[in-house]
Amino acid sequence: MFKPKHVYIEKEALDYTLGKELKKQFEDMQIPVDILESNRVNFLRGKSVQEKYEIGKRVLVIGVRRTLEFQSCKPSAHYQLPLVTGCIGKCEYCYLNTNLKDKPFTRIYVNIDDILKKAKRYIQTGKFRPTIFEGSATSDPIPVEPYTHALAKSIEYFGKQPDARLRFVTKFTDVDDLLYLKHNEKTEIRFSINTDTVIESFEHGTPRVKQRIEAARKVIKAGYPVGFLIAPVFIYPNWKEDYLMLIKMLKNYLPNEELKHPITFEIISHRFTPTAKNHILQVFEESKLPMDESERTYKYGQFGYGKYVYSKEVIAEIKELFEFGLKHLPFPYEIKYII
Ligand code: SF4
Repeated sequence: MFKPKHVYIEKEALDYTLGKELKKQFEDMQIPVDILESNRVNFLRGKSVQEKYEIGKRVLVIGVRRTLEFQSCKPSAHYQLPLVTGCIGKCEYCYLNTNLKDKPFTRIYVNIDDILKKAKRYIQTGKFRPTIFEGSATSDPIPVEPYTHALAKSIEYFGKQPDARLRFVTKFTDVDDLLYLKHNEKTEIRFSINTDTVIESFEHGTPRVKQRIEAARKVIKAGYPVGFLIAPVFIYPNWKEDYLMLIKMLKNYLPNEELKHPITFEIISHRFTPTAKNHILQVFEESKLPMDESERTYKYGQFGYGKYVYSKEVIAEIKELFEFGLKHLPFPYEIKYII
């Protein structure tokens, strides 16, 4: 469970029961709590990028979600469900290093009911059937779940919606509070996994892969649709052996009895933008992330900007490896894409 070093609460959040309860809870835990007069966070002002990152990753901000227009979330869902912003993990390649570079802290919201009411409005437009919401577009929501119960509330809420689905992805493992919820199979939980080499090198502050697979086993047994995001796939000495070993771990640890839903796989090779490389190297000066442009192909994407990706030949090798490896799984599965 995430234990912040410092908590900041927006004054307005104290008008909500959850805001008051969390203030008391953190004070009881002897964690410094400061009240913010507005939603403008200024405790990182004047700090270097690295200082901001180090301090921010240990800070929790409790606020009121004001923007209730949900952003679109292609291709994973129709809309983002903004339950949490930021993450306590320190993955070197994380997109949040760029997207939240000035706000590298985790912000939680006390007005979950307002957020879910807004979700209902999007569902009621009938534009998409079912309407799919992504609960982890700007965060990993699991580490702060013991404080917010936002996922639990959302899972039960979506459990009652005939025309909507919730999905989220996590690298974290505190899933016990989700096991007995009335999810009605309307929430898909995906676990982001990788080889131990990649986790040790680049995914600082996150659980080991075996623990993630054990958490997946629990939610499969609880009847949730479950998937794995194997990403980013890196090419390094012994990468083939390591990724086949990862698949073998899935074979060994996941339940073999009849599954209610096929296990889905989304497999994404590593890619980076020039902007992301620049931010990553500001935070992790010694980063060993493979970001040598001369070894990559520059590819324009559907969102109007380009990325450095592995060559066509390497992507073909990745596809071949995973298609071969996954064939040995003893349970039903579906490969959504390998890119
Ligand atoms: S766990 Fe996910 S969201 Fe958190 S830092 Fe790592 S990649 Fe980013």
